[in-house]
Amino acid sequence: MLFKNSNATDEAGPEIVVLPLLPLRDIVVFPGMISQLFVGRERSIAALEEAMAGSKEILLAAQRNAKTNDPTFEEIHGVGTVGDIRQLIRLPDGTVKVLVEGKRRAHLLDAVQTTPCFLVESRTLLEPEVAGVTIEALMRSVHGTFETYVKLNKKIAPEVLTTVQSIEDASRLADVILANLPTVKLADRQALLETADAVARLEKLMELMQGEIEILQVEKKIRTRVKRQMERTQKEYYLNEQMQAIQKELGGGERDEFKNELQELTEQVKNKRLSKEAEAKIKKELKKLKMMHPTSAEATVVRNYIDWILELPWFDKSEERFDLEEAERILDEDHYGLRKIKERILEHLAVQALTKQLRGPVLCFVGPPGVGKTSLAKSIARATGRKFVRIALGGVRDEAEIRGHRRTYIGALPGKLIQSLKKAGTNNPVFLLDEIDKMSSDFRGDPASALLEVLDREQNHAFSDHYLDLDYDLSDVMFITTANSLGGIPVPLQDRMEVIELGGYTEFEKLNIAANYLIPKNRKECGLEEVPLTISESAIRTIVHHYTRESGVRSLDRELASVCRKVARQVVKDGKGKPVEVGAKQIPKLLGVPRYRLTKKEEVDEVGLVKGLAVTSVGGEILEAEATVVPGKGKVIITGRLEKGMEESGQAAMSFVRSRLKQLRLAEDHCQNVDIHVHFPDFVKKDGPSAGVTMATAIVSALMRVPVRRHVAMTGEITLRGRVLPIGGLKEKLLAAHRAGLDTVIIPKENRKDLRDVPRRVLKLLRIVLVDHVDEVLREALVLDEPESYLGPARTLIEFRDGEPFVREGADVTTPSDDSVAPPRVPSGAGQPSAST
Ligand code: ADP
Repeated sequence: MLFKNSNATDEAGPEIVVLPLLPLRDIVVFPGMISQLFVGRERSIAALEEAMAGSKEILLAAQRNAKTNDPTFEEIHGVGTVGDIRQLIRLPDGTVKVLVEGKRRAHLLDAVQTTPCFLVESRTLLEPEVAGVTIEALMRSVHGTFETYVKLNKKIAPEVLTTVQSIEDASRLADVILANLPTVKLADRQALLETADAVARLEKLMELMQGEIEILQVEKKIRTRVKRQMERTQKEYYLNEQMQAIQKELGGGERDEFKNELQELTEQVKNKRLSKEAEAKIKKELKKLKMMHPTSAEATVVRNYIDWILELPWFDKSEERFDLEEAERILDEDHYGLRKIKERILEHLAVQALTKQLRGPVLCFVGPPGVGKTSLAKSIARATGRKFVRIALGGVRDEAEIRGHRRTYIGALPGKLIQSLKKAGTNNPVFLLDEIDKMSSDFRGDPASALLEVLDREQNHAFSDHYLDLDYDLSDVMFITTANSLGGIPVPLQDRMEVIELGGYTEFEKLNIAANYLIPKNRKECGLEEVPLTISESAIRTIVHHYTRESGVRSLDRELASVCRKVARQVVKDGKGKPVEVGAKQIPKLLGVPRYRLTKKEEVDEVGLVKGLAVTSVGGEILEAEATVVPGKGKVIITGRLEKGMEESGQAAMSFVRSRLKQLRLAEDHCQNVDIHVHFPDFVKKDGPSAGVTMATAIVSALMRVPVRRHVAMTGEITLRGRVLPIGGLKEKLLAAHRAGLDTVIIPKENRKDLRDVPRRVLKLLRIVLVDHVDEVLREALVLDEPESYLGPARTLIEFRDGEPFVREGADVTTPSDDSVAPPRVPSGAGQPSAST
C-alpha cells in the first residue's frame, strides 16, 4: 500500500517524535487549518513555551471531555494534529493568544513528562494514497455539494468557495471543507480527524453536507414563510391603524359602536325564542360578523340577515278567539247580506273552534271587484282575534317574489310571504293572498308552485324561503285567497282551496250597503259624524245608475267618499250646526257630469240593434250588437274589441241564417251581393261565445229590416242548426239586465237550474224566457206582425214571471211542459230497446 506523508518518507514508517501537548477543550484543529487559540491553563502555557523554545511545533489534541480542567493523558483523544506556532501574544491578564497552523495528523503514543507540561511521544498518521476516476468523481460531487451549501449558508464568505475549488488534493479538500463547516459536531470532527483514508472522509463529508443542505433548505422555507406572514400582519396592522386614525379624524368611534352593537345582538339572540335551526344559524353568523370589519359590505349583509331572523315571529302568537256568536256579530256588523257566505265562513270557524287548530282547505273568495272579498277576510281576522296581512299577487310572475332571493344576490331580501309575516309580528295572522288568478309564470319560475307548498297543510310547516335558508312554520297562518274568476287559477291550486263565490249586488243591496255601511263609514272618515247630514235614497240611486257601472260597490264607495268630502268643505265654510241634505239633484253639482247613460236610451225599437249580455271581470254587462247590410259579396264582418271565439260564433250565426233564408221569405241570392257587418260598439272586453243568439238576431233583423224590441236582452250560444246552448255567469248577466232596466231576458233552457242563485228580488222584476231554439229567440225579440208566417207555429215555452215559472203552451203540445220531467225510463227486464224507436 502506498502512503502519502510529507515527513515520513522512510520505509520503516514514520519516526516517533516527542512534542509538547496542548489539550484543546472544544475545538479540533485539522491539517491546513489556521486557528487562533486563547490559552489560560498553566500546563498549556508551559507547553507553548516549551515549543517556542524548540522547533515551534506543538501537538494539538482534543480532550475527551471539554469540561475537565486538568485532564490526564488518558483523558485526551489518541489522535491529534501537529501544528506550527505562527504567532504568540501574551495578554495583560496572563493568558496567551496563539495562532497555530495544523500540519499533519499524529498518533499520541505515550506521555514522557506530565509537569510542567505534557511531553508526548507521537507518530505521524499515514494516509493511504488515493487516485483514479472514483476519487475524481467523488471530488467533483463534493465541490458541487459544497457550492450549493455555500449558496444556502450566507455565513460562509464567498472567497472560501474559490479557495476550495482550487484544491486538487483529496485529503486537503476534505480537511479545508470540514474546517468551514461550523455546524459539524465535535465528536464528528474528531472521528474525521482520526480517519486517515481521504475517500472515507470525503464520503462522510458528503453525507454531512447533504444533511446540512436539507436543514438549510427547510430553514429557508420557514424563513420566507414567516417573513411573508410577518409582512402581511404588519401590513394589516398598519392599514388598520391608519383606518382607525382616519375614522377618528372623521369623528366616529365606530369600532366601539360596533362592539356595542355586537353585544346588543348577542343579547337579543339570547332573549329571542327561535327555532333550533335558526338559533344555530344566527350564532354562526354572529361569529362571522365579529371577524369582519364593521363598515365592510359583507358585514352589512350579515347584519341584515341577523336582523331579519331576529325580527321574524318564530313563536309569537296573538291569542285566538273561538267564540262563534261573537264572530257572527262581527261579520254582520261589517257586511250587509251575504248570508250564505257568512254561514260558510262560520262553519269553517266552527271546525277550527272544535279542533283548536287550522283544518280543512284554504278559503278562496271568488267574485268581481268590490263585492267585499278583502273586507270579509279582514272581518274574519277581527272575529278570530288574529292580525291581518295581505299581499297582492296580481302581476307576480317570478317565484323569487314569493320565496325571496338567495343571499348571494346583491340586495337580496326574503320573499313577500316572510316580509308580510315580519310586518304582522305574529305567526298566526289571517293572511290574504289577493288576486291569485292574476299570477303568471315565465322563465323565472312559476310562483304558483311556491304557493302550492304554502297552501298545503301537509307541507307548510317547513316552508323554505331562499333568503332565510331556514324552515319556517306556516301551519298556524290562516290563509285566505281571492280571485275574480276561477278560470285563472291553476287546477292544482284550486284543489287545495274551498271556493266561495260572491256574486254582484242588486240595486236594492247596493242601496242598503250604501245607506248602512258606506255612508256611515265615509262620514266618520270625513269628520262629519256630528253634522246633521242626510243623503237621500234617490241620490244614492243616481250615483249607482249614472256614476258607477260595476257589480260590487267599490266605485259607489269612492263616489260617496267624494260626496262626503265636498260636503265637509261646505261645512267648514258654513259651520257644523247647519243641516245638509243631499238629494238626486245635488249629485251632478258634487260629482260632475254623469259618467254613464242608462242603456235604456232608445225611444223606439231599432233595426239591427240587439242587447246581448256578457260577463266581464267587473261583473255582468249589457253588450250591444249592431248589424247592418252593406253592398258586398256575401261575407260577414265582425268588429269591435273582440275576444277569441266571437268571430267563429258570428260565422255560425251567419251560416244558420243563410240556411233559413227561404223560411224568412228572403230571396235565396239575397246574401250574394251584400256583406253583413256586425259591430260591438261598447269597449267592454267581451268574453266567451255567449253572443251567438245576439248576432243571429241582429243579422236577421238587418236582413229582414224588422226592428228588435228595445227592452229585450238575450244570451246564448247557437249551433249551425239553430239550437241554443247554455252559457255561464247567468246570475251576473241577469243582474246587469236588471241594472239596465230591461224587462225581458231570453236565456238558454238548460240554464234554468242557475236561476236558483239569482236574488228573488231581481227575478221578480224580470220576465225570463227559456228557449232551446233560435226561432223562439227571434219570435220573442223581433217586432213581427205575423211571426208564424216566418217562424212557424210557436212552441211550448217556459217563462218566469214575477219569479214564478209559467208554461206558455204552443202548437207542439207533445213537448213536455216542464224540463224537470224525468226522461221515460226503460222498464226493467224489457231487454234491449228496439232499433225502430
Ligand atoms: P274586493 O276585495 O271584493 O274587491 P272590497 O273588500 O275591497 O272588495 O270591498 C270594497 C268596499 O266595499 C269595502 O269598503 C267594503 O267594506 C265594501 N263592501 C263590500 N261588500 C259589502 C257588504 N256586503 N256590506 C258592507 N260593505 C261592503
